[in-house]
Amino acid sequence: MQSIINKSTQKTNEVVDEAVYDFDDFKVLFKQPKSWTSSTGKTIPHLPFKKYLRTDIRSIFESNGVVDPFLEEREMVAQVFPFKINQHIVDLINWDNYQKDPIFQLTFPQKEMLTDADYKAIRKIKSETNDRRIIADRISDIRNAKNPAPANQSANRPFIDTDNEPEFIDGLQHKYEKIVLMFHKNAQTCHAYCTYCFRFNQFVGKDKFLEEDHVRLHKYLLKNKQVTDVLMTGGDPATMKVDTWKKVLLPLLSSEYDHVQTIRVGTKALSYHPYRFLTEPDADELIQLFRTLRNKGKHVSIMGHFSHYQELSDVTLEAVRRLREEGGATIRTQSPVMRHINDCPEVWGKMWNMQIQNGMIPYYMFIARDTGAQNYFEIPLAKALYVYQNARKYVSGLGHTARGPSMSCGPGKICVLGRETIMNEDVFILKFLQGRNNDWCDRVFFAKYDEKATWIDQLVPAFGDKQFFFVEEYNQLLQDKLNKYNEMIQSQT
Ligand code: SF4
Repeated sequence: MQSIINKSTQKTNEVVDEAVYDFDDFKVLFKQPKSWTSSTGKTIPHLPFKKYLRTDIRSIFESNGVVDPFLEEREMVAQVFPFKINQHIVDLINWDNYQKDPIFQLTFPQKEMLTDADYKAIRKIKSETNDRRIIADRISDIRNAKNPAPANQSANRPFIDTDNEPEFIDGLQHKYEKIVLMFHKNAQTCHAYCTYCFRFNQFVGKDKFLEEDHVRLHKYLLKNKQVTDVLMTGGDPATMKVDTWKKVLLPLLSSEYDHVQTIRVGTKALSYHPYRFLTEPDADELIQLFRTLRNKGKHVSIMGHFSHYQELSDVTLEAVRRLREEGGATIRTQSPVMRHINDCPEVWGKMWNMQIQNGMIPYYMFIARDTGAQNYFEIPLAKALYVYQNARKYVSGLGHTARGPSMSCGPGKICVLGRETIMNEDVFILKFLQGRNNDWCDRVFFAKYDEKATWIDQLVPAFGDKQFFFVEEYNQLLQDKLNKYNEMIQSQT
């Protein structure tokens, strides 16, 4: 496979999206990538990771013989929502029908992602000044108007509360009792960016949830013995070098962390850069690390992000096999259901069947978050329910492990369980899969059926209730947390 971009077209003044490597990472530079031999004897040569950014969009089209009518708009959208892609993904796209291709829709900016007013504002500022800082500020305003931190994520920021020295922890999130999320500073990017990603502000260097190193995670875990799961997330933690992984994870093998049973890895690298697990210079060591964790009693669960069966390439399936068989990892899969990409039952049915056949466990179907270009991707809850219920018909019981369609919102993960007529009222049956208050988990409640609603805040309680059962307590939880933060800040000044 040939790289399609001339070096001269690469610019370095793009968004801030590079992981910051510490010294140990440079050891990897002295290791060599190697090809991989599959179980069937097929050789998979190494494909070096080479990223393409906004300034490369034109070259990508040219290299694939495409004259794109919306090039200008795509480049403008990519100023608001960061664009990043690589050769493996370019090769997955069917360029003969690229506008309808799901991988193209998943990764390339689309004209309708911005409003006419947004285009007008960008054109206006560009006509008024060449000052890059002023233009960047204006674009930042547009970005910030698109709800870059949905679901009250700031309220998930934990702290270590000691009498002498209370400490905020920016790079962890702790919303549900049993699981802590870690956003390592070296995992603040991905091998490519999904156009629907809600972490777009992170990728331009703003509002980063960022943990400097492993020290505070370990400290926090020692003080929170109720936590059973650590989720490595980002960005994508698979962008980190193995030495960083080891510093975070190997100490958890000590007996004082016995309460941590499961290491989850939230990643799209199986789709976007599967060579990470096969031919990258430190791939063997990473697989060995997972095996060590497994042998010492930890469950390693890869939370693989797949939106369409087209992502399940031969290289991806080989990486899946290696992670399972050599790494001893379990692979669970999840994705949002999105217009233009996967809003039909057949796509999910085929994807789940391929996943099951290759030893993966379908885990979640999410609903588009109320952020970013949601206007382009969102589908009504009623449609999401239709897709979910009918996709299940394509799979045996083994595929019924997928939960959803679920909204990850401030109060918790709320699933649309079904639609029924109860007491002469047409209702959605909703259920908490996870709750900010653990007692909400599995509680069922009802909203008036609304065929247009796309998110929980557009739903009205059924049966004449004034508000959903959790609203008062949820507001109180947020207020209590805010009060605690304020107390801590005052005690520090
Ligand atoms: S892989 Fe995840 S974090 Fe990265 S761009 Fe896609 S949705 Fe966002």
